[in-house]
Amino acid sequence: MNEQALRHEIVEIAQAIDRAGFCPSKSGNVSARFEGGLLITPSGLPYAKTKAEDLIHLSLDGTVKSGERKPSSEWPFHVEIYKARPDAQAIVHTHSPRATALSCARRGIPAFHYMIALCGGADVRCADYATFGSPELAANAVRALEGRKAVLLANHGVIALGATLTGAHTIVAEVENLAGRYLDLLASGLEPVILDAAEMERVSARFAGYGKVG
Ligand code: 13P
Ligand code: ZN
Repeated sequence: MNEQALRHEIVEIAQAIDRAGFCPSKSGNVSARFEGGLLITPSGLPYAKTKAEDLIHLSLDGTVKSGERKPSSEWPFHVEIYKARPDAQAIVHTHSPRATALSCARRGIPAFHYMIALCGGADVRCADYATFGSPELAANAVRALEGRKAVLLANHGVIALGATLTGAHTIVAEVENLAGRYLDLLASGLEPVILDAAEMERVSARFAGYGKVG
């Protein structure tokens, strides 16, 4: 994909998560790998006003290669995730309401529904708390993302990574859906039945071939 198409796709995904109500008070940010570094949304700029040329090109040490605006305050976790995870081509961060509520109880999401496997394993962990934008938050997120494509950030929100921007977007939306169902279940007083590791392995194996011909 050329640079302009990638810039437009990042803006489209950012505007889509905003329209979905995942970014109250202009929270969240979006990035994609580009030329050995990344393109990332600017800090604090409302998504409806964000244009392709507002994105910032960063190197993987956080140096600005081009762009007039300040990069997202969360550039440290974007950079650290790309450094730790060769499978990450794109990252979407939101404060989507139900997942954020769960993160404020510092609870992850167990395998109470098979779609958890979309997030890369048998659960979505909740990373230890650290201040937004800090290197500590970046380290905590990378640790809790081990073997996973999504993580809750304590008292904060969600990060999802993907092989594509669309993939990361799909996961961040599914985390919000699953967090909502999990909170509903907890509020009802019913006891969730957690799928065991062997079943989650079977689900992951099915996902590997899902939607493919033959
Ligand atoms: P930025 O606007 O700086 O990307 O910050 C939003 C956010 O969600 C911080 O965690
Ligand atoms: Zn945030």
